[in-house]
Amino acid sequence: MSFYTPETVLCNNEVFKVMLDQNQIQSRIAELGKELDRDFEDKKPIFIGILNGAFIFLADLMRHVSIPCEVDFYKLSSYGDEKVSSGQVKQRKDIDADITGRHIILVEDIVDTGLSINYILNIVKQKNPASVSIVSLLCKKDAIKYHVDVDYVGFDIPTKFVLGYGLDYAQEGKNLAQIYVLDENSNQKD
Ligand code: 5GP
Repeated sequence: MSFYTPETVLCNNEVFKVMLDQNQIQSRIAELGKELDRDFEDKKPIFIGILNGAFIFLADLMRHVSIPCEVDFYKLSSYGDEKVSSGQVKQRKDIDADITGRHIILVEDIVDTGLSINYILNIVKQKNPASVSIVSLLCKKDAIKYHVDVDYVGFDIPTKFVLGYGLDYAQEGKNLAQIYVLDENSNQKD
């Protein structure tokens, strides 16, 4: 099987280089899957993916989990076409599952300011689940403005704009199988 893993990417006229390669991502997700197997044994959790960004991470993560589990999705508005958040979150799709009394695992691609995950957390808690845990592939922990305890973090990363592996820039780059960051040397304007 071969995935799309170029060394560098030109997106929106800016050059991006690899920050986390395919092996790093896949082996970390395998570890997270084992932790979830252990922590949710006999709990039949419902994974709730936060669309759009989390779709690839969720698909890989669930295939590393071997306990009985279910899946559902929320969809939130995204960054738009910019590299900075609009600071506004809107729900575009609700879940279908009845989550009362169930163990919920919220799956995010990235926690930046924490605004989106707090927004979803409040909605989910109002539905009286038995427990809510958060797993995020990436966490920009120095950027968090809205406190949140992320129970399972794939990678802590610096406060830089990244793309790939489900994360886009102006809608492009989601299909990359690795995480890329702006290459500051290549983008210097002199
Ligand atoms: P927060 O609400 O925590 O500030 O941001 C979370 C959402 O913003 C993520 O689910 C993702 O859609 C988007 N986001 C945050 N940082 C980045 C980034 O570096 N790259 C991309 N492509 N999206 C990001």
